[in-house]
Amino acid sequence: MIDIASPLRLRIDSAALVSNWRWLAAQSDAACGAALKADGYGLGARGVMKHLAAAGCRDFFVATWAEAAALMPLAGDVSLSVLHGVGDSDMVAARTLPARPVLNSLEQVARWREGGEGRPCDVMIDTGMNRLGLRPEQALGGALDGLAIETLLSHLASADEDSAQNAAQLEAFRTLREQVPAKRYSLANSAGICLGPDYAFDLTRPGIALYGGVPRDEAHGHVRQVVYPETRILQVRDVQPGETVGYGATWTARRASRIVIANMGYADGYLRCHAGVGGAMFNGSTLQLIGRVSMDLIAFDASDAGSIGEGDWLALDYDLPTTAARSGLSQYELLTGLGARFECIWV
Ligand SMILES: *Cc1c(COP(=O)(O)O)cnc(C)c1O
Repeated sequence: MIDIASPLRLRIDSAALVSNWRWLAAQSDAACGAALKADGYGLGARGVMKHLAAAGCRDFFVATWAEAAALMPLAGDVSLSVLHGVGDSDMVAARTLPARPVLNSLEQVARWREGGEGRPCDVMIDTGMNRLGLRPEQALGGALDGLAIETLLSHLASADEDSAQNAAQLEAFRTLREQVPAKRYSLANSAGICLGPDYAFDLTRPGIALYGGVPRDEAHGHVRQVVYPETRILQVRDVQPGETVGYGATWTARRASRIVIANMGYADGYLRCHAGVGGAMFNGSTLQLIGRVSMDLIAFDASDAGSIGEGDWLALDYDLPTTAARSGLSQYELLTGLGARFECIWV
């Protein structure tokens, strides 16, 4: 096979990932797990699992059985839960793979009783989000009797805000804990961890904060950036005052300018909303993104960047909280939208 270098790379800082997990773990006495859905929020679920398992993380969550299968074989003492539970077409995978379904409805509970061969499961109870999970009255009505429940879960809808819904969900979950037997209880995602140890119970399930997202102010200054997208310069061009750059001619040179064209575009998840606000770093200089974002190309003003040329690498501005505020995308979208053309480089 020919080795073809990609002109786009994601530098992934494994020390920052582990440091974020340790900070999240230290916010309570609970065990701290990790959400690995959507291929580890775009970083590569296998790589994330490897580094966090080495740091001591034992509880992992994916959305689907295909995501679970992609993580096999698991290290012996690691636990994997599938958040979307079991549909009819999942039962073979669910009986075969060493992972547990998170049962989300009476239908899924019945399916697991029927075909789960008595194996353990997790159960999600809805305490007010109305997304996935049994209603509390369903959970208390005998539907769960006799199931081998490893972890009873619920999920916070508004933990990233100071909302009265947080305390209401906490109260509802406490009540459930008194009445539904399970080995462990789990409520908090990243933002929920920041709400304090009352929300942690036995096991927390952070995702975004592991990967450099700041879910609430409490995490500011503690969560470190993990993902650094980099793009290679394909061409350098000099433009005269009054000349325009890109589709729609939305940027006009006010002075003689040096423009660099880089290998990245909206097909890589670098969406058009970065226009006018995006930037990159080269050798300590800041380069403004100029003009529209094309499918595979973007342009930067490198007039003040010193000696710069074809083949040089630019580091995109991609600190998640500030990039989200500038672009209007969520921190989650900034990560999970990153496309397949990036070469992931763990450092
Ligand atoms: C995605 C998810 C998490 C992690 O949420 P973050 O906001 O990324 O920390 C935790 N629990 C459930 C059920 C999820 O779907």
